[in-house]
Amino acid sequence: MASQTHKVVIIGSGPAGWTAAIYAARANLDPVVYVGVPKQHPSIQLPGGQLMLTTDVENYPGFPEGVSGPEMMQMFQKQAERFGTKTQPRDIVSIKPGDPSQNKPHELTTDTGETVLAHTIILATGATANWMGLESEMRLAQGGGGVSACAVCDGALPMFRDQPLAVVGGGDSAMEEATYLTKFASTVYVIHRRDELRASKVMQERYLSKPNAKVLWNKVVEDLKADKDQFGNEMITGVVLKDTVTGETSTLEVGGLFVAIGHTPATGFLAGSGIALDDKKYVVLKDRSTATNITGIFAAGDVADAKYRQAITAAGTGCQAALDAEHYLGAHGLA
Ligand code: NAP
Repeated sequence: MASQTHKVVIIGSGPAGWTAAIYAARANLDPVVYVGVPKQHPSIQLPGGQLMLTTDVENYPGFPEGVSGPEMMQMFQKQAERFGTKTQPRDIVSIKPGDPSQNKPHELTTDTGETVLAHTIILATGATANWMGLESEMRLAQGGGGVSACAVCDGALPMFRDQPLAVVGGGDSAMEEATYLTKFASTVYVIHRRDELRASKVMQERYLSKPNAKVLWNKVVEDLKADKDQFGNEMITGVVLKDTVTGETSTLEVGGLFVAIGHTPATGFLAGSGIALDDKKYVVLKDRSTATNITGIFAAGDVADAKYRQAITAAGTGCQAALDAEHYLGAHGLA
């Protein structure tokens, strides 16, 4: 049985969740962050979202020399805890909305079956990049071996300069990532499993107009090739491709691989809660706020953003969600 009703429960431990916690804690709202049980990959033992898979973050202001994703998340957590944020190492598996304005708090259930009561909830569970599912892919992504699911985050790193690079996928993300990479790469290869791109015409044209842009049609990646670099680190050297029409296999030499085959928002646990999701299962927000369709429930970061998906935008909306929750609590005499 739950013993107390929290003012703010935050679900998720990426930049959105921790920033919401910093703001809520500094407003004396005693936030509790359910950080989640890590499940992206067996080798990742700490929560912290997508940044746990990012080696160097060079585009977050305030870190002129860059910072590793995991280190950055530990710093966010430390800052939130300095102001009294409590951390719970559990998943929330379901939410039963209440009506805090009528003294009926929201009910959350953890993976161990515990009930948690809250006047406001901030959903910050993020979205997970989809991967092809190859063992070599995850090993190299995790080890800084030249495989990434975010060109905007990693593409400008020195190790990718003047190298042939490949992007897997045929949607807008693949076009956006590939176009970005043409600035640094010798050649960018888009590897697409069909003979027609899914991306919008304008995004296709933007990419195809670059002199170093190429598309490899009807190809899937069967495996990755890797070697030790001069420092003894395993680095990608090529991809083994299979032609989906002829069945032929070939090897393409690349110095980096970017997987852009879509994202899946972490909203499965909201099934049955009544919280509105769009057709791609992202949380729907009201106007320019972080409010969901349910009173006292807010969302921040990638869980409600299929478009920008950056650490800095997630942190920004985490701040907004905490301010929205604070305002809500004040307006209902619950602060
Ligand atoms: P998406 O539109 O779902 O495209 C995913 C692509 O990956 C598709 O081409 C798909 O191939 C391919 N794919 C999926 N699974 C694969 C697998 N296992 N192996 C190989 N290829 C695979 O996802 P997205 O590009 O991330 O875009 C998501 C949403 O965000 C879209 O609505 C998009 O318009 C939007 N977006 C907009 C912008 C922008 O406007 N600036 C930028 C990025 C994203 P098939 O085509 O064969 O299915």
